Amino acid sequence: MCGVIGVLGPPGSRAADLLYLGLYALQHRGEESCGMAVSDGGRVHLGKGMGLVPDVFNRERLAELPGPMGIGHVRYSTTGASYAVNAQPLLAYTSRGPVAVAHNGDLVNARELRVQLQRAGSVFQTTTDSEVILNLFARFGDDDPDTAAMRTMAAIRGGYAVVMLTRDRLLAFRDPYGIRPLCWGRAGDAFIIASESCALTALGVDEVHEVLPGELLSVDAGGVRRRRLPAAADDRAPCAFEYIYFSRPDSELLERNVHLVRKAIGRRLYEERPVEADVVIAAPDSGTSAAMGFAEAAGIPFEIGLVKNRYVGRTFIHPEEGMRHLAVKVKLNPNRQVLKGKRVVVLDDSIVRGTTSRRTVALVREAGAREVHMYVAAPPFLYPCYYGVDISSRKELIAAQRILEEIRDFIGADSLYYLSVEGLCQAVGVRPEGLCLACMTGVYPEPVPEEDVAHKHALEGIEHCG
Ligand code: SF4
Repeated sequence: MCGVIGVLGPPGSRAADLLYLGLYALQHRGEESCGMAVSDGGRVHLGKGMGLVPDVFNRERLAELPGPMGIGHVRYSTTGASYAVNAQPLLAYTSRGPVAVAHNGDLVNARELRVQLQRAGSVFQTTTDSEVILNLFARFGDDDPDTAAMRTMAAIRGGYAVVMLTRDRLLAFRDPYGIRPLCWGRAGDAFIIASESCALTALGVDEVHEVLPGELLSVDAGGVRRRRLPAAADDRAPCAFEYIYFSRPDSELLERNVHLVRKAIGRRLYEERPVEADVVIAAPDSGTSAAMGFAEAAGIPFEIGLVKNRYVGRTFIHPEEGMRHLAVKVKLNPNRQVLKGKRVVVLDDSIVRGTTSRRTVALVREAGAREVHMYVAAPPFLYPCYYGVDISSRKELIAAQRILEEIRDFIGADSLYYLSVEGLCQAVGVRPEGLCLACMTGVYPEPVPEEDVAHKHALEGIEHCG
């Protein structure tokens, strides 16, 4: 999960300022590193580093990035380890001049392409598959940039949303199933493209358009040109998890507001498994919208039962053994007055390993809850994701290892209920073929090579970043 953005403003404008604000709006998609590349028409300037947007960019650093056109990235690592060298955008000097790339997603044929490119003489400086995209584009250097981008799209497979920058052109393209999100719009004279509509509307875009699956947008001073891969599927399959967890509630995907979809999920959960309870609370913050929908459907009050400390970030120092239990509550504190003596429904977005849910249930019980009923706003995760989300191995997925009753017992709840796949599709308002549900059903819209499945399994148990 990463976020990408691209901006083309009028001559004399500064893309870096819009990119900075847009990256802030996409920060939830990746906190590990961020960066931007900006073209002034002659040179491409690069600024990037580890950490959050305000950690990496200050006024002075932004001033060093002149030019009306640029791309930006926030990174949460999946393919490629967590090193500064993997921070994006990546910049290379090709036969057509400087080219920068930023990418969200994973390619299922990245390893195969990397080997082919290395045999043909390409050298790689990072472990990201974004560099594969950059090398492919560079190899089609005799073609015009739009054709080179189309040939690159034809060669890569997987889930991807890519923005690229040359001296005078902004390119953006999306995988043929539309697994990873990408949308665009105009704010005054500026053209903006981003992973999520929340970044566009924050920058003043009124009318948001989706980049179609398998579509290339090429933008320069002459306007916007749109081309599409001939093989692009009319059956799109956007990542269901964008609705459940990744995207911000104020974003729209396929013209569906994420907050309202999550509320519909909550309503559906209650319809599928009604319960007698006194209060509905959310596991902060991503369970909030679903909890509101559940509470509405059930006629049970929605309350703030757990308060997350917004200031606990990556730099939080975990205390020595004896004080660890205190650190847990500094991060997430139960609201005793709301929970004491109550039958509590807890809404969470998902259960991956089960350890977070176990901690949540323990906190609610410690605060005096009489019963704890855990409702999960997603079907069980049973399979790995190969399209850019760090759900990496079946060994790590509690639902792939234990039956429902064992999971309930492990997390310590009185009852446990997961949303059905049909319920998820109904809440989103699409047929099952209209979503990627692979991590829940094992049906992968873009086939995954056998060796990649084997490779991922070989990594099981090893600490890695996808
Ligand atoms: Fe999203 Fe799951 Fe599909 Fe990955 S496998 S793209 S997480 S729905």
